[in-house]
Amino acid sequence: MNQNKTVIILGGGSGGLVAANRLRKLLPKKDRVILIERNKNHLFAPSLLWLMIGTRKLSQIQKSYALLQKKGIEVIHGTIEHIDPIKKRVHVDGKELKGDALIIALGATLAPEKIPGLAQAGHNLYTAEGAEGIRDDLLKFRSGRIVLVTAVPAYKCPAAPYEAAMLVEYHCRKKKIRPAVQIELYAAEPGPMGVAGPEISSAVRRMVEQKGITYHPNHQIKSINSEKKELLFNDGVSVQYDLLIYVPPHQAPEVLQNSGLINESGWIPVDRHTLETKFKSVYAIGDIAVIPLKLGKPLPKAGVFAHGEAEVVSKNLAHASTGKDQVESFNGYGECFIETGDNRAGIGKGNFYAEPTPQIKMHSPSFIGHLGKVFFEKWWLWKWF
Ligand SMILES: Cc1cc2nc3c(=O)[nH]c(=O)nc-3n(C[C@H](O)[C@H](O)[C@H](O)COP(=O)(O)OP(=O)(O)OC[C@H]3O[C@@H](n4cnc5c(N)ncnc54)[C@H](O)[C@@H]3O)c2cc1C
Repeated sequence: MNQNKTVIILGGGSGGLVAANRLRKLLPKKDRVILIERNKNHLFAPSLLWLMIGTRKLSQIQKSYALLQKKGIEVIHGTIEHIDPIKKRVHVDGKELKGDALIIALGATLAPEKIPGLAQAGHNLYTAEGAEGIRDDLLKFRSGRIVLVTAVPAYKCPAAPYEAAMLVEYHCRKKKIRPAVQIELYAAEPGPMGVAGPEISSAVRRMVEQKGITYHPNHQIKSINSEKKELLFNDGVSVQYDLLIYVPPHQAPEVLQNSGLINESGWIPVDRHTLETKFKSVYAIGDIAVIPLKLGKPLPKAGVFAHGEAEVVSKNLAHASTGKDQVESFNGYGECFIETGDNRAGIGKGNFYAEPTPQIKMHSPSFIGHLGKVFFEKWWLWKWF
């Protein structure tokens, strides 16, 4: 890029937040860094699992985007209504903005309405409102059946529903109601965290089952009758619940539907190393991007990848502008904490771009692993605000 350039970042979740910070630091002051976000607060999503069991309050896991202004990031609070990737123009609440580069980090929209009855029946594990609803119901819960459901086989943070089941189990033990509570996990997928390979998948399944949680893979939910508190699966099986926790279907945000950016997968294809889309100087990072892997599944949707991709795109835009440092390439490295209850967490880490299959190692659950996630949460909300 030459002089007085404008980079527009669409969405201030994990990817957009990192990109805005990095670019503001790396680009000359005269260049503009604009972040457009519809929410007033950034939420650290991994801590929804702690919000759910009452070990965090919402105020502890979010921060105001307004704080970014003092760093020189121009924050526009509004809803993006239109994206023109050819002219690099964006419409926000009726106003038009033009950039020299766009970084699309709009994430995945949650669509519980795709499964009849789901939104009315239970709590969405993936929203703050849903996590608070689970917390409130768990406080009142004395006995009965708690059912967790993944409504589709692929969703962001593939570990989250498994962690949620183990944390709910831990919570019930702490409350001394465990013998009166049945906990079941019905998954649309054939096993936990399939992309990480059969060893990790079996290890996570074992962790869940050793806690007395009944696991039912390959169960695709069809509909829910909230009056009868009954789940109906595609194979005709029906199941009663007293408390329902669900991971909803995901889709690309509405604004992308006719943008020319998404392909038949429903997501934005990108160059796996530069994150550039088929439009020059238009990048897509995080959950909105699709990166096919050799084993036939895409790179999982996770904050760790959104973060790593944001770093690469920001450094390369800065390099193009200033000529400083080197061109970077996203290498598919990722790691994640797996909370298992009892203040312990495992850690899975490795190279998801390795071929023919990702090379991921799992560290057994430990108190140190749990502390690692606590530290990361504090660091994230300090570092980027
Ligand atoms: C319970 C839970 C636990 C998780 N745990 C982990 C974990 O331990 N490790 C991990 O790596 N990942 C984890 N994740 C996944 C992680 O949060 C996501 O993968 C990550 O946030 C994706 O980042 P992103 O920037 O692509 O999208 P997001 O963080 O979803 O951000 C997208 C942003 O775009 C905004 N937006 C969307 N449409 C518009 C519009 N039209 N106009 C304006 N703004 C818009 C949204 O408001 C949002 O802020 C977890 C997720 C959940 C729900």
